Amino acid sequence: MKPLSSWGKRKGAPLIGVLAMQGAFAEHVRALESVGAKTRLVKTPEDLHNLDGLVLPGGESTTMTMLMERVGLLEPLRDAIAGGLPTLATCAGMIVLAREVTDGMAGQRGLGLLDISVRRNGYGRQVDSFEAAIDVAGLDGKAFPGVFIRSPLVESAGTAEVVAVHDGRAVAVRQGHILALCFHPELTGDRRLHQEFVRMALAS
Ligand code: GLN
Repeated sequence: MKPLSSWGKRKGAPLIGVLAMQGAFAEHVRALESVGAKTRLVKTPEDLHNLDGLVLPGGESTTMTMLMERVGLLEPLRDAIAGGLPTLATCAGMIVLAREVTDGMAGQRGLGLLDISVRRNGYGRQVDSFEAAIDVAGLDGKAFPGVFIRSPLVESAGTAEVVAVHDGRAVAVRQGHILALCFHPELTGDRRLHQEFVRMALAS
């Protein structure tokens, strides 16, 4: 498995877009800026221009997708990611990218850019939120504090590379330029995954 820290070939401040339809986008902005990235809120198709990377935050996948459709952002966003824009997707963002979504709202479909099958709210409503120490391949030092909030359950990781497992299930996967997490690194003080994503954006 390729260590995450092998990403990053050049130095400098990349410009990372953060999808800002709804959800935990402000926390991602703070986390990215604290590791030296520049950020731009993505609310329209024009906001996708000249980005070095993109973050799809947690929130509600159905609402996020519906709002993107409303402002004409869904197709340009799909094209940008399919075209190789480095993307960090957390929680709802992971659902938005998935090949297959079960237990979604009626008619809910993922963009099909990430070869995983996810069960929406798959960790069960009785344990809507929990925290667990997650060993992420390639991250130096201690386990990562994984904050899970009504997270999707990865039922099959397809061809995506599993970079972290919890209770026998993938909770972090990488597929080329896409890194997707079931948990919320932006809600912790641990910036290692944002740091790695910034390196990944610089390396692309
Ligand atoms: N359950 C939410 C959804 O289906 C995801 C939760 C989250 O992003 N924290 O979109």
